[in-house]
Amino acid sequence: MPLTSHDHPPQTITSGYCKRCKTIHNLGSDKAIAGCHRLMTELDSEDATKDYLFGPARGKMFGVMECIQPDGSLITLRAFSGQFDGLWEVEGWVPPLFNIKDFFRKSDKVEKQIKTIGREIEMLAPHSEPWLLLRKKRRQLSQALMLEIHNLYQLKNFHGDTATLRETYYNRNGIPTGTGDCCAPKLLNYAARHRLTPLGIAEFYWGRENKSGSRQHGSFYSSCREKCAPILGFMLCGLDYLDEK
Ligand SMILES: [Zn+2]
Ligand SMILES: [Zn+2]
Repeated sequence: MPLTSHDHPPQTITSGYCKRCKTIHNLGSDKAIAGCHRLMTELDSEDATKDYLFGPARGKMFGVMECIQPDGSLITLRAFSGQFDGLWEVEGWVPPLFNIKDFFRKSDKVEKQIKTIGREIEMLAPHSEPWLLLRKKRRQLSQALMLEIHNLYQLKNFHGDTATLRETYYNRNGIPTGTGDCCAPKLLNYAARHRLTPLGIAEFYWGRENKSGSRQHGSFYSSCREKCAPILGFMLCGLDYLDEK
């Protein structure tokens, strides 16, 4: 489909450093732009979606990936970052990197405990010994939960290798909240799991700009540095190999 001139966004790139190949793997956006514009039109045509994206919750990053299926036909995948209006799974969109049931089984119980401790803390004198102890206990609980949640994330790449978030994330600093929930990891994981060969991927922001103003309605963005770059090298690995076959 030919694009009109105003449809040409700056080329964006989805990339990350791969430990295995000691190089940066990347995937361009060209082949996914037409799919993005189709999605933008759809997002604009639904009143409930528009109200949500331009309301107090603000806008969202969306991602589109154009792939070849094993039978040679094309397929367009779509993803939203994080949750959509409180939901992790929505029909017509690729799922998150973890099993939802396992996620809630792990998090519900611990989050209840954390809330209970929070109420107890409020009733104690600040900086008293019990206050400090309970604060420490709460921190330990939430750190242990994070660890368990990160281990629920199963990342698959195009060699057929699977690893958890913790095994994949190579940065020395801790894993930021929301890592693995952006559109690019969701789309790549789905493609690798279903033997699809990605041709291009693009992510854009739709809705009311975010609080810091770093994300603007209708703008395209490359994959993010802090959360995605440290896992995308692993996730993109094996794509070149698939191309050569
Ligand atoms: Zn990201
Ligand atoms: Zn590699």
